[in-house]
Amino acid sequence: MSYRENHANEERAHMSREKVTVIGLGQMGTALAGAFLAAGHPTTVWNRTPDKAKALVERGAVRAGTVADAVAASEVVVVCVLDYAAVHELLDPVADALAGRVLVNLTSGSPEQARESAGWAAGHGARYLDGGIMSTPPGIGNPAIMLLYSGSPQTLAEHRETLSALGEPIDLGEDAGVASLYDTGLLGLMWSVFGGWLHATALVGADGVGAKEFTAIAVRWLTGVAGFMDLYAGQIDDGSYPGDDATIDVQLVAVEHLLHAGRDRGIDGRLPELHRELMAKAAAAGHGGDSYARLIESFRKA
Ligand code: NAP
Repeated sequence: MSYRENHANEERAHMSREKVTVIGLGQMGTALAGAFLAAGHPTTVWNRTPDKAKALVERGAVRAGTVADAVAASEVVVVCVLDYAAVHELLDPVADALAGRVLVNLTSGSPEQARESAGWAAGHGARYLDGGIMSTPPGIGNPAIMLLYSGSPQTLAEHRETLSALGEPIDLGEDAGVASLYDTGLLGLMWSVFGGWLHATALVGADGVGAKEFTAIAVRWLTGVAGFMDLYAGQIDDGSYPGDDATIDVQLVAVEHLLHAGRDRGIDGRLPELHRELMAKAAAAGHGGDSYARLIESFRKA
């Protein structure tokens, strides 16, 4: 194929890509708009601080003068600003212009806020997808990262190809609040993992082990932990926690070694103390012979 034919094909592909609008060009919105441009989507952008659009305009984006113009430019309107209050501040005045369009809200919020926004969008004739972005901006555009969506499986299916420019779209069903529910839970999981890793890194660091050296082993251990989670998830769904691999009683003894090692090195022990407290409570209630998955009951009954 000649250069001219190849170029013409690329032009045709570009013309056929769905138009997209991105409202909000903070760190994340800029990455989202950049990924749409990289995938060949005609992309319109708007941001409260207009200068942030400059680099995207140089890459081919169209800067809308107003939020209303931004909404009018595309069937798919992605919004990614600080919080839902900002979403409503921007979109309430132009709500009627959303009729017949797809509003993809990638702003982080609570499940209740997502459900409220879905109702608000439906009231104005818009189709609505709420999303949770499971990445930082540099990961956007990588098909290995997940974007969680809920609100309308049909709308997601219709626009899957477009939204795939950002990462792999994961459909979590009809209830618009579910993507936020997963997102908040998964952030909690991340912080717990970070906390355990930083505590352990401080512990081994006290004896001179470098963070990189330790982390190579820690990451491999996490693969094993993921396997335990898979096994325990089945126990949680069944409501039965056979301690046939490692019991809570055994781990109650093991956590004392961690607390002891930490005390001797002047390490903050609050995280392992919490683990000990939860395990001790389960053991005192007669569940010391069960697997660690039994502790789900403590989280359920806060
Ligand atoms: P950011 O860099 O601080 O950008 C915030 C954006 O919100 C800017 O475009 C800002 O406009 C806009 N904004 C804030 N208040 C506004 C208001 N009242 N009216 C109009 N625009 C307003 O934050 P970010 O990292 O892009 O995060 C944006 C959203 O993505 C958040 O909900 C965040 O939780 C979510 N998210 C972020 C990440 C991440 O790694 N960064 C990951 C997952 C999800 P100005 O430029 O004019 O200030």
